[in-house]
Amino acid sequence: MGATDGQIIGVTKIVDNGPASDRFNLIIVSEGYQQNELVNFANHSQQFVQHMFSNPPFDELRCAVNVYRFDVSSTDSGADDPAACGGTGAIPATYFDASFCNGGIRRLLLVDSALVRNVVDAEVPEYHQIIVIVNSTIWGGAGGSIGTTSIAGGWENIALHEMGHSAFGLADEYNYWAGCGTDTNRDTYAGGEPAAPNVTIDTNRNTIKWGNLVLPTTPLPTTSNPDCTQCDGQASPVPVDTVGAFEGARYYHCDIFRPEYNCMMRNLTHFCAVCQSRIRETLTPYLAECYAPIFQRNNWLACLILTIVYTVVIAALAIFALFSRKIRCYIKGLVYRIKHCRKGNSDRCVRL
Ligand SMILES: [Zn+2]
Repeated sequence: MGATDGQIIGVTKIVDNGPASDRFNLIIVSEGYQQNELVNFANHSQQFVQHMFSNPPFDELRCAVNVYRFDVSSTDSGADDPAACGGTGAIPATYFDASFCNGGIRRLLLVDSALVRNVVDAEVPEYHQIIVIVNSTIWGGAGGSIGTTSIAGGWENIALHEMGHSAFGLADEYNYWAGCGTDTNRDTYAGGEPAAPNVTIDTNRNTIKWGNLVLPTTPLPTTSNPDCTQCDGQASPVPVDTVGAFEGARYYHCDIFRPEYNCMMRNLTHFCAVCQSRIRETLTPYLAECYAPIFQRNNWLACLILTIVYTVVIAALAIFALFSRKIRCYIKGLVYRIKHCRKGNSDRCVRL
């Protein structure tokens, strides 16, 4: 099983916001797709990209990201599905040897990640994050050094969740390991403060690591689990999107807290405010200093008038540009508008 069970086809840049050296480069790799199924993989990649950029905060960080689709074919379709986890026992011959049921947990879907990295490194050495889409409709994924996802219903959110781990160092916010009602050793968390930004043992308003996002009126802890032998089933006592400290996170029922009632890292809803701010911190350095404004095309007369007006504004502001990046960008934007007045601009990732 492995590299002899298929073929590297090649890389296509499907979102191009500039040279790889300047952007955050996301690589989407196929696994368990036969050659004639790679057209589905292309669709899946496109689907994921659209989903990612419609999810805050990725919608506002689009210009920071390049996406590459890496086509690798496999001899057979799917992934290993060991009978030990209640699977079919299938062992298809696939390039990266994907398998469910790692550590006895069926949803844990792993691939030969060293081989994935080698293959990607040979083509796009500037990569930052790899997501492997595995051609199986069984629910699963994993977020080690690279993220994996199957194509079970709702898989686009699994992929985002796993990226949350691999690219942004976010912890799982759900409060079980094998499952609620199944776990017997997940009552109380006894470790130290986790390094991940989105789980904590600290419910002190003055020291909790996401304290800047907690309103003075929000109680801390915001929820407490009344029965630590069980997953907490209580409804949220506060409005959606309230940041506080909700008990139950990172595979434990008690003594560890998450920032919002729901999150992509808990139940595949949306990234909570704390997770969003980590994603912003990571991707913002890959944004350019200034972007071109979006504007309609104009006729020659309007352009003549606008050119005169903009030139006067530029002359008036020029001195302040020495001191302010914002004004520098604004002036560059006006120059761009003069130059492209007749054409207009609808691409918000055009760099100045
Ligand atoms: Zn979160």
